[in-house]
Amino acid sequence: MPSIRPSNVRCKSLPNDDRYSRQIRFKPIGAKGQSRISAARVVVMGAGALGSTAAELMVRAGTGSVKLIDRDFVELSNLQRQSLYDEEDVRQNLPKSIAAASKLQRINSAVRVEGIVDDVNPGNVEDYIQDADLVLDALDNFETRLVLNDACAKHKRVWIHSAAVGSYGVVMPIVPGQTPCLKCMIGGLPAPGTSPTCETEGVIGPATHVIASIQAAEALKWISGDRRVEDLQLVTIDIWEQRFQKLALHSEVMRDCAVCNEGRFEYLDGEPLRTVVLCGRNAVQLIPSVKGDLDFAEVSRAVAGIGEVQHNEFLMKCSSPPFEMTLFKDGRAIIKGTEDAATARSFYSKIVSM
Ligand SMILES: [Zn+2]
Repeated sequence: MPSIRPSNVRCKSLPNDDRYSRQIRFKPIGAKGQSRISAARVVVMGAGALGSTAAELMVRAGTGSVKLIDRDFVELSNLQRQSLYDEEDVRQNLPKSIAAASKLQRINSAVRVEGIVDDVNPGNVEDYIQDADLVLDALDNFETRLVLNDACAKHKRVWIHSAAVGSYGVVMPIVPGQTPCLKCMIGGLPAPGTSPTCETEGVIGPATHVIASIQAAEALKWISGDRRVEDLQLVTIDIWEQRFQKLALHSEVMRDCAVCNEGRFEYLDGEPLRTVVLCGRNAVQLIPSVKGDLDFAEVSRAVAGIGEVQHNEFLMKCSSPPFEMTLFKDGRAIIKGTEDAATARSFYSKIVSM
């Protein structure tokens, strides 16, 4: 698990008297809020368009420590919306969390920044959130989000869910035990192929930036001490259509939720997407716990830009070197070109959203 904490930059810290003056002058924060911000430990799950933008805002605001976890590398197709990265990161094939941490540390040397290259999963998520005052969800799939939902409920960690696709996005703060959790809202893991992804539907930079900004504003409210649980709402925005909605989070839904009501953590304790490394075949098989009924014609059209796609009524093949994925109607897949489960899951979640 590579990690970076560029300590050599810290000794060159600039005096911080003036740095936060505009933020301190903002009455809801003030000097007291700023000192709380500077003591807060924030974990950002995912360093894509949402996570890199939210992390940048948290670091600029002077958050005490920001830990950033991501499994992917910077690719050219990221630069259209992921403002923290540049062409040199692509040329150097840098992991996102490493490239991000090094830039964030240059932006504010007073913040303790840590970039971790890892796939968040039931085996490690509890370690990552244990000492966090706040967790920001900037993940790219519902499987991992539901694992995070369980872990935050189990350890009573406040977190802020965010997601964006196309020109649309959503932000929802979650205070375990007090406001509805993600499972309350979505019911459970969507069947494979039933929700859009940024690979299949595309995404525009203004959408991810506005969603990350709302998430960061909610985060600043929380860590600066301006907390009113009763005011927390689910916010949705379509930036292209200029539609903005706020929905109250009614606690009645928590009565029917296994996480909120019974303390059952099926995603943390189970395996929503089981991976089996197929030894000697340089391949990984992925088996979702929820069976889908994929419409190959639709999935093929959606992923046409990603690679070469063929399908018949039984299976679909998508070739995007170095990987080749064979996808079955129920969502099961075999990904050739890797024996690393995290790499295979990453490729799978780009094509078959869950
Ligand atoms: Zn719940």
